Amino acid sequence: MSTNNTTAPGTPASAPHYPDQVTGMYILARALKNIGIDTMYGLVGIPVTEFAYIAQLEGIRFVGFRHEQQAGMAAATHGYLTKKPGVLLTVSSLGFMNGLTATVNATVNCYPMIQISGSSVREPIDLDQGTYEGLDQLNVAKPLVKAAYRVNKPEDIPTAVTRAYRAAVSGRPGGVYLDVTTPCLGAIMNRADAEKLFETPVDLCPSSIPSDESVDRALKLLASAKKPAILLGKGAAYAQIDEKIKRLIETTGIPFYPMSMAKGLLPDNHPLSALSCRSTIMEEADVVMLIGARLNWLLSRGHGKWNPDGQFIQLDICPEEIDCNRHIAAPVVGDLESSVDAILTKLPDYKLSMDPAWVTGLQAQSKQKNAKFMERLAPQTVPMTHWSALSAVKKVLEANPDVILVNEGANTLDDTRDAIDMSLPRHRIDCATWAIMGMGMGSTIGAAVATGKSVVAVEGDSAFGFSGMDFSTICRFNLPATVVIFNNGGIYNGIGENLSKDGDPAPTTLDVKARYDKLGDAFGATTYYVTTPSDLEKALTEAIASKKPCLIDVQLAADSGKESGHIGYLNPASLINVTV
Ligand code: ADP
Ligand code: MG
Repeated sequence: MSTNNTTAPGTPASAPHYPDQVTGMYILARALKNIGIDTMYGLVGIPVTEFAYIAQLEGIRFVGFRHEQQAGMAAATHGYLTKKPGVLLTVSSLGFMNGLTATVNATVNCYPMIQISGSSVREPIDLDQGTYEGLDQLNVAKPLVKAAYRVNKPEDIPTAVTRAYRAAVSGRPGGVYLDVTTPCLGAIMNRADAEKLFETPVDLCPSSIPSDESVDRALKLLASAKKPAILLGKGAAYAQIDEKIKRLIETTGIPFYPMSMAKGLLPDNHPLSALSCRSTIMEEADVVMLIGARLNWLLSRGHGKWNPDGQFIQLDICPEEIDCNRHIAAPVVGDLESSVDAILTKLPDYKLSMDPAWVTGLQAQSKQKNAKFMERLAPQTVPMTHWSALSAVKKVLEANPDVILVNEGANTLDDTRDAIDMSLPRHRIDCATWAIMGMGMGSTIGAAVATGKSVVAVEGDSAFGFSGMDFSTICRFNLPATVVIFNNGGIYNGIGENLSKDGDPAPTTLDVKARYDKLGDAFGATTYYVTTPSDLEKALTEAIASKKPCLIDVQLAADSGKESGHIGYLNPASLINVTV
């Protein structure tokens, strides 16, 4: 079996031809299967095509994409939802680079994934002599990901896979890069020797137990609080300890605030949900317990509105996270399951001194704010605004709570997050920590493949553009996914003006007349073009019920939407008032 035979598959040269010999590709597939990987996302070409065929033969589902970045987003979402690394397969050079963006994004978001990339022959790369797709991939990846390894010999492959797996899931999860050279993929080994390599690793993600002292310190502080709050992050959702977190909140009666991807960990309409009282929590809480959430830019890095005299308890797996932005009075470092278990065990030893008026006050405020919010959704405006469109989406999604919601855009992100109540854990996936655009189709596919559940992606028209071609992957794999495109014809909105008046579109302008539904037709999806909230409600209901690939083009008014949503101050363009 030759290594550069990879462009001419059909039938891979596999075991039946050489019963006593195996290749590095076979060993890699077996090692992945052996450690529990059942799915791989990627895009093939030299030197990994045969490997993907062999992986399929070995029982690993291969989901082939049109762009590596989206395959990576799928792998990352798979990792987030399953607590096992999602696996991305890329070719060398550009394919590697395209996929790396997703691996880095996974690292930033603490999602476990492994990017496996074929790479060229080492020697001409090291001497910079010019070779086919020659790039020093390991060194490119190294500073950007949680861990990076290269494997040069087939007998080292199982060890490399185990190391990559452990690095991805242990401690703070993240993206791992595994570089497999072309000679290693094609190297031949005696089958009997290869079979001896597959040991089954045990305890792949060991617990990390918090100290008794840290748990007591945290409980002492919590018990002293008059106005405590619990802030849930996506680390808490990732941990899959939903019942324990519910028990902690319900037995203490402390109000909670979920970060966007923690929505649904407890239902958004739970009596202790302080979802609509973010400012009050920040300004008035005297003790805040962070569970799997970082005090990063999404929480003003612990400053700004936050009560300067407030104190923090932080439950996190990562010791370096503690104190990184603001003094943490009571860090509890451990995996969340162990930490929450320890807190629940010791909780009866402490008497809380929470002021009951704090909770009733927040509840009254929530009621008032929620009623006011509903006023935004009431007008059935046509041409549709984000709000009138969301009034329809809200009805349908809340009637189908087990549908996973993927969401990206600018206004489409902010408004959808605020409008749609979630009631089940890990049912909302969005652009998260970096607030990136271009995760939509990948995350939709990853969520559908990893869970088998129906997925609805609510996408801004600009956001959809980054990954639109991978709608065809949804169709080829016949996934139960509906893509809803809010088309207001632009980034933020479709009424930007080119200030130079040279006739070109403004930097923010796309195409408000674009018929995205026709793009869906090209790939055999069921498609809809809707102009009213009632038609949208009908289309989305039908689409979800079909459990088939569907695309809904939602025609919005070009002037619906404002620049940068809630964070205009981060974007200098808002200072020159481009859009009005
Ligand atoms: P959010 O954006 O929702 O606030 P972040 O991604 O900022 O969430 O924070 C998640 C935090 O959760 C990270 O600091 C990470 O170290 C932590 N984390 C992730 N998984 C676990 C776990 N199993 N146990 C403890 N902490 C975890
Ligand atoms: Mg738009």
